[in-house]
Amino acid sequence: AKSIAVLTSGGDAPGMNAAVRAVVRSGLSFGMKVYGVMRGYNGLLNGDLHEMSMRSVSDIIQHGGTALFTARSPEFNTPEGVQKAAATCRNLGIDGVVVIGGDGSFRGARDLTGAGVLCIGIPGTIDNDIACTDYTIGYDTALNTAMEMIDRIRDTTESHDRCSVVEVMGRRCGDIALHTGIAVGAIATLVPEIPYDFQKDIVDRMKAAQATGKKHFIVVVAEGVGKTQEITERIQKETGIESRATILGHVQRGGSPTLRDRVVASRMGYHAVELLQKSVGNRVVAMKGEQIVDFDITEALNMPRVFDENLYRISAKLSI
Ligand code: ATP
Repeated sequence: AKSIAVLTSGGDAPGMNAAVRAVVRSGLSFGMKVYGVMRGYNGLLNGDLHEMSMRSVSDIIQHGGTALFTARSPEFNTPEGVQKAAATCRNLGIDGVVVIGGDGSFRGARDLTGAGVLCIGIPGTIDNDIACTDYTIGYDTALNTAMEMIDRIRDTTESHDRCSVVEVMGRRCGDIALHTGIAVGAIATLVPEIPYDFQKDIVDRMKAAQATGKKHFIVVVAEGVGKTQEITERIQKETGIESRATILGHVQRGGSPTLRDRVVASRMGYHAVELLQKSVGNRVVAMKGEQIVDFDITEALNMPRVFDENLYRISAKLSI
């Protein structure tokens, strides 16, 4: 590709800026023209894009959110929308687009590639819910934020001999819950991938721990399990321990990206541009172990997500 564009799409995630910066600077260093597209696919539909320079992406690597803004674009998600976006690219001579987002955004990238514009997806979402990759940009920052917030909740939980039930993000994916649950020593962690038995997995565990002298408890619930308020009330009723619910919500989406998010995003951004330089499109950049690799978008979208059940079992053994 000689001329490329970069956009962020779907939910924002800390580290997206580092990926944008890497795409812009790698592209320029390869002698390409690079456009920044505003508000996801919407920017391609209404021509809201501008040429970037090395300095356009200064001072963004340390910021959460996305300097290009993001959006969900119902209009793009139609055959006419895809053709319109492709026409914008053709008119400006853009023959490659890097799309930073989640699975929905990758479906868009696949369609836009089908319309003649080579697209590369980069996984950017705090949930870590993309099957083809071990890691998504924003995940590490979200984990660390959730852990820090729960540590704070723990201070007050401990002072009052209470139980705190904390809902963390993850609609379809329990990775944030599992990892923060381990990191904060949650007595129980509920994830969408594994059904739970209220009596056995929560009440009995709390009572057994109580018998050994434990007086305060943290229960972590993934958003996808839901019913956090109900779970909290039921815990209080069945254990007699005063219980409080906290839904962390969007606090997990913001903040300065961690070192890991910045570095992975930078590596993925570079990799995406390398593919476009070789005129390769319809790929998703992914992380396998510590390696940056790439997959065909359709294959990537069809991969089954694997939840680390072994780590889930270990976490139950450790928090007691
Ligand atoms: P997140 O995981 O943060 O929600 P996402 O990328 O999955 O991110 P979506 O809202 O699903 O977020 O998708 C973002 C945009 O991608 C949509 O607004 C739409 O324009 C485009 N898109 C989504 N699904 C498709 C599809 N099946 N075909 C073409 N384009 C799509």
